[in-house]
Amino acid sequence: MVLAEDLDELRRSALAALEAVGSERELEEWRVRYLARRGELARAMSRLGELPAEERRAAGQAANRAKDELQQAYEGAAESLRRRAAGADHQVDVTLPGVPPVTGGLHLTRQALYESVRIFAHMGFTVFETNEVETDELNFGLLNIPPDHPARDMWDTLYIDDELLLRTHTSPGQIRAMRAYCPEPLRVILPGKCHRYEAVSARAESMFYQIEGLAVGHGITLASLKGVFEAYAQQMFGPERRIRFRGSYFPFTEPSVEIDITCHCMGRGCALCKGTGWLEISGGGMVHPVVLENGGYDPSDVTGFAFGMGIERTIMPRHGIDDIRYFYGNDLRFLRQFA
Ligand SMILES: [Zn+2]
Repeated sequence: MVLAEDLDELRRSALAALEAVGSERELEEWRVRYLARRGELARAMSRLGELPAEERRAAGQAANRAKDELQQAYEGAAESLRRRAAGADHQVDVTLPGVPPVTGGLHLTRQALYESVRIFAHMGFTVFETNEVETDELNFGLLNIPPDHPARDMWDTLYIDDELLLRTHTSPGQIRAMRAYCPEPLRVILPGKCHRYEAVSARAESMFYQIEGLAVGHGITLASLKGVFEAYAQQMFGPERRIRFRGSYFPFTEPSVEIDITCHCMGRGCALCKGTGWLEISGGGMVHPVVLENGGYDPSDVTGFAFGMGIERTIMPRHGIDDIRYFYGNDLRFLRQFA
């Protein structure tokens, strides 16, 4: 029964070899070695004829059983390889760390608006929200910019028709706020979206956000504006910041100023401030008597200050953003940095 023992040995070693098979290619190599027409099993069976007749029958049956068993094992291995490729054998590993869900976040502009509103609210300012679509009269006329005024060139305007336009600044809200509060004193901030018919560049967007501030009452001076703005700048950008006023011109304020804030380089000079140590952050001044009158107040009785700043340009230095187009380009790689 030497052949029967050989067959048994062949069967066991073939099954052991099949355990180690890990790919289609290895499985095919296994099939060629053991099951093919010139494989080890076929060669062993070819020796059946050498056996004495009385042993041949039992050895033949053992050979057939070994062949069936290996054939079945081969088919099982092929099936499990197919399943693995299809992922059907995929097991859940509960010890793996989870994938954090993607959550939304406030846009960088919205965060800065909320932060600014919070700071001004602590100084007694109330948010006053007004129209994004405005009349020519409110956007210009009542702000001391009549139709033929050369200062209209300062704002490239998107008109809807002869009378309606997309507001170019938050300043028309000044008139609406004054008319809502008059004759009471008021302290409001007007945050909102503005539009300009402008060539888009690294420094200019056709849509942006402004925060306008307005205070009207007795004894308000340019020093009040300076105090309010310095408090804002120090809470928004850091206690070491200083501000300065430079004389300027706006039709709706008199006198008018540009407001600068010390650069983060603290006066040493850098590329951002072009070596000056100062960054322009806002424009403002004392509310023009004509504008006070248009709001319903008596300019011989009360005074007021107003300022307006673009939110994006204000926070760009803080985050090292060098192109305003990133804000509304909706590139998630940019936005997620601030979520
Ligand atoms: Zn600088």
